[in-house]
Amino acid sequence: MNVFETVATTEHEQIVFCHNKDAGLRAIIAIHNSTLGPALGGLRMWPYASEQEALDDVLRLSRGMTYKAAVAGLNLGGGKSVIIGDPRTDKSEALFRAFGRFIDSMQGRYITAEDVGIDVNDMEFVFQETDNCVGVHQVHGGSGDPSPFTAFGTLQGIRASLQHRFNDETIGDYSYAIQGVGHVGFELVKLLRATGAKVFVTDINPESVQAAVDLGAEAVGLDDIFDVDADVFCPTALGAVINEQTIPRFKFKIVCGAANNQLANEECGSELEDRGILYAPDYAVNAGGLMNVSIEFEGYNRERAERMMRTIYYSVSKIFKIAERDGIPTWKAADRMAEERIAMIGKLKLPFMGRAHRYPGRDRSPNAK
Ligand code: NAD
Repeated sequence: MNVFETVATTEHEQIVFCHNKDAGLRAIIAIHNSTLGPALGGLRMWPYASEQEALDDVLRLSRGMTYKAAVAGLNLGGGKSVIIGDPRTDKSEALFRAFGRFIDSMQGRYITAEDVGIDVNDMEFVFQETDNCVGVHQVHGGSGDPSPFTAFGTLQGIRASLQHRFNDETIGDYSYAIQGVGHVGFELVKLLRATGAKVFVTDINPESVQAAVDLGAEAVGLDDIFDVDADVFCPTALGAVINEQTIPRFKFKIVCGAANNQLANEECGSELEDRGILYAPDYAVNAGGLMNVSIEFEGYNRERAERMMRTIYYSVSKIFKIAERDGIPTWKAADRMAEERIAMIGKLKLPFMGRAHRYPGRDRSPNAK
């Protein structure tokens, strides 16, 4: 493993290898970019087959967080952490408290949250050792389940997409195909059905499908969702569902959903573009979860969360404008929007404000006695 060469390619700022023999901790924290603010990103616990696999994962995920926070307009950088271990068998209080101490030693440069393999009880242990931890239980001032907010944010992305594609954002006048009616998907069905929209759903879990049907949605088969004659496809289950096999079947005019990593590869994003299907980039559409936890720093407030989710309308609209401005596909425009914001804020230079004036009674001048 050539760590420095890898970091030079991916442009990460810092990678911290955390080891505690007594607790059995082997973890990696990666900070990709902290130009906009402290690096925020979840903690994943996974039985990686090798250290290289864990490193690759944390580097990839932390880079993604930089782009997500930047496009969402948040003053946060991108970071992520992984614990090498099996979440079913290797968890302990000592493990998470040891990890919490490593986070604390970074003095706020990295802030952690829940991700795959981690639950709110694990975060309680981390929280005992550091304040730099969000997504804690509501009794500690945490923000709770982000899914309804992610769904509400997705709805804003849908509005922006309708406006761009049809010059009309009357949600109820269009039809939707929702793949996956879990935490986010079901909330999205509720929001769409409240506007009277025609909604098609599918899920591997028949009970989830039935709950959506009870709200007036129409059930379709797992594979049939790709053939549905609906205006908008909302992937809310899995990644890589937009691929060489599915795209030729699409009658959709728009793809806008909350699932992560919807495009199997970048070419599929360009293929959608060539077929006149508007793609709302997933990490801009599903930023609601990140926005929701980010509010915990100032004291969680539901109203503020909802206001923040509404800004997804503007960020998604801006991506479409950049795509038109530069003649590029929307997935590339999202990356460009993030890079432009980071570059612009990174260049900001403010005049020195004179601390002595802001703290009367204290004098930092070199001549102070
Ligand atoms: P979830 O596990 O609650 O829901 C996923 C649903 O998809 C489940 O009901 C599952 O049965 C269904 N599913 C699985 N395989 C399927 C298949 N082949 N076809 C159809 N349905 C299938 O997860 P969630 O929290 O609702 O998240 C959904 C997606 O959104 C994930 O990709 C997640 O990473 C992303 N996301 C979620 C949030 C959030 O706030 N929860 C935030 C950002 C992104």
